Amino acid sequence: LFIVFEGGDGVGKSTQARRLAAWLGERGHEVVRTFEPGDTPAGREIRRLVLDHASGELDPRAEALLYAADKAQHLYELVRPALQRGAVVVCDRYIDSMLAYQGAGRVLDLGEVSRIARWATADLRPDLTVLLDLDPRQAVSGKSVKDKLESAGESFHDRARQHFLDLAAERPADYLVLPARDSEAAIAAAVADRVAALLS
Ligand code: C5P
Repeated sequence: LFIVFEGGDGVGKSTQARRLAAWLGERGHEVVRTFEPGDTPAGREIRRLVLDHASGELDPRAEALLYAADKAQHLYELVRPALQRGAVVVCDRYIDSMLAYQGAGRVLDLGEVSRIARWATADLRPDLTVLLDLDPRQAVSGKSVKDKLESAGESFHDRARQHFLDLAAERPADYLVLPARDSEAAIAAAVADRVAALLS
């Protein structure tokens, strides 16, 4: 089972991924909790490359290809082997982040970005994507997020948010969309309910 958390910066994806992994572990499942970009040795270098460059410094196509390379390596090294041995993989960000940020955010052709992402992942799709939705202005809690919002421009994050929602609307059966302002416990309970249904 491959479960992905998606959504903007600062919406609580990693907190919820951690809670779901703990919930699954308590029920005896082997869980691999992971994230993109950067959860392999090569990925860590790619993450440094993409995140150390101030917005606008990297060509958007170069940036998209670096994210795609991170994905390919992540699947090869970590995600596919885990799925093959029957583990549940809980991943913080996946293809939708690439479509929302590199596609809708950086205004690259969405069809092209999608083809690159599908190619990089050999079309491995999550069994469930949990989208934590929040107005980017309300996600501005930490200073680093605030700096990012200011440097990237709010419209970048608005376009990304809208695209996350559009992707979920295209395939509602594959998504659980939750308002990220709900309490941490309420979100965790809703996610656990949905995952329990998938496991039964
Ligand atoms: O989720 P995490 O905080 O690790 O993401 C690091 C940064 O990379 C975030 O600011 C996020 O917006 C950005 N990112 C991106 N495109 C992706 C994945 C992440 O711009 N495909």
